Amino acid sequence: MPSMPPGCGEASLPYISRPSLESISSYQSEQLQALTLAREVLCGAPSSAGQELKASLAAYLNFRRRVDAFLGRYFEKVCSESCYRSKRSACCSRDGIITYWADVVVNVLHATPAQLDLLEARLTTPHQGAKCVYLGDGGCLWRIRPIVCAMFLCGQAEAAVFGEHPRAKARWAELNTEKKLYTWPDRPVLFNDLESWFVERGYRSSLMYMHLSPGLVRLKQKFAV
Ligand code: SF4
Repeated sequence: MPSMPPGCGEASLPYISRPSLESISSYQSEQLQALTLAREVLCGAPSSAGQELKASLAAYLNFRRRVDAFLGRYFEKVCSESCYRSKRSACCSRDGIITYWADVVVNVLHATPAQLDLLEARLTTPHQGAKCVYLGDGGCLWRIRPIVCAMFLCGQAEAAVFGEHPRAKARWAELNTEKKLYTWPDRPVLFNDLESWFVERGYRSSLMYMHLSPGLVRLKQKFAV
């Protein structure tokens, strides 16, 4: 029997406190608008639509699992030693990481209400410091990290691992090429399709770069996507 996305069940928090919306950053505000829009639309959509969208993510999620497996195998040790243990989290030290609309949709379709509420809570609380607003005590709060984060390796970690494992460098290059099959619209790609699903129903978000970025729009025109 079709079911709603997991993020559409009863919220675990009784309410999201919003007394401080005026003091959140423009980045938080933009992210919050995207997250709440995606939640509202997907939770209000027929369950068959949610199931269809979820089914369309299968290959991408398989790709993400393979990326995670690669990172776990080659980078977990070096990243733990140089960053996580010291809580430096250098790769999460930007306060405005780029997220695509597709990143948000993937999470709304796969996260629990509690996980999504936690993201909203972060976005509605004034944020201080240089670290990413989504960085919690136990790491990233996203159920499935934004693609930009998942594919980021710092030069220090790359040098440490690829110097020792040259074949891993070639494998990482393959994964980066594969990423484009989902994100680079010189052909029909998931990230564009997920935006189009909403655009065709009249919804807009500033995170819909496939439809808003002049460079990506030109690319789509060139390849008739
Ligand atoms: S979204 Fe998550 S993985 Fe990306 S920078 Fe923020 S805390 Fe780090």
